Amino acid sequence: RKIIITIDGFSSCGKSTLARELASELNYVFIDSGAMYRAITLYFLRHHINWEKTKAVEKALSEINLEFQPSGEPGKSDMYLNDENVELLIRDMLVSENVSAIAAIKEVREFAVEQQQKMGKRKGLVMDGRDIGTTVFPRAELKIFVTADPAVRVERRFKELYEKNPKITIEEVKSNLEMRDYIDSNREVSPLRKADDAVVLDNTNLTRKEQFEKALEWANN
Ligand code: C5P
Repeated sequence: RKIIITIDGFSSCGKSTLARELASELNYVFIDSGAMYRAITLYFLRHHINWEKTKAVEKALSEINLEFQPSGEPGKSDMYLNDENVELLIRDMLVSENVSAIAAIKEVREFAVEQQQKMGKRKGLVMDGRDIGTTVFPRAELKIFVTADPAVRVERRFKELYEKNPKITIEEVKSNLEMRDYIDSNREVSPLRKADDAVVLDNTNLTRKEQFEKALEWANN
């Protein structure tokens, strides 16, 4: 029996890592919903869209085509924006600095959520994000809410970004995470919160393997 697994939580709690590991173990499709908001943000920045104006937002969205394509690495897809592979570009700090404001726009969320729900027509899906268990798939069979100590999250995120950009500072990473978590939890449209029927996975003191085994046990029950 194939199911839908949702993984939500604050920024940099290790949601995508867990989602990818589960999907590859269960032979499921993994979707990183944050990549979609990041790709939309990249488009808005490149085309200087004034996102305070609903008309401009609607027009821009009508020009955006998002697609996931296999990356070659098992269980991992790359994000394509209008047929361009933007997987690396969407991890840029400039995108991270603007994505939460753009993801708070009602029209942007409707656009993304509709596409996410279509992907759920085929069972055997792991999707990670902020509102997947609450809004996108409120009837998912397994909902995981991941948490971790904020200092641990900053440290992990810093290590990851530093490999690609040695100029980055801990302070930059910390303030970006705090800002995104604040906007994500306080926006009007489907703010980040734990679904009532979600199980909490605090991975502060868990290794990657331990967290994976715990989640796999839930998935198999
Ligand atoms: O998951 P990731 O950190 O890449 O997501 C980037 C941003 O996209 C989040 O900080 C949040 O503002 C937004 N997002 C969202 N809803 C989702 C996934 C991501 O609002 N389901």
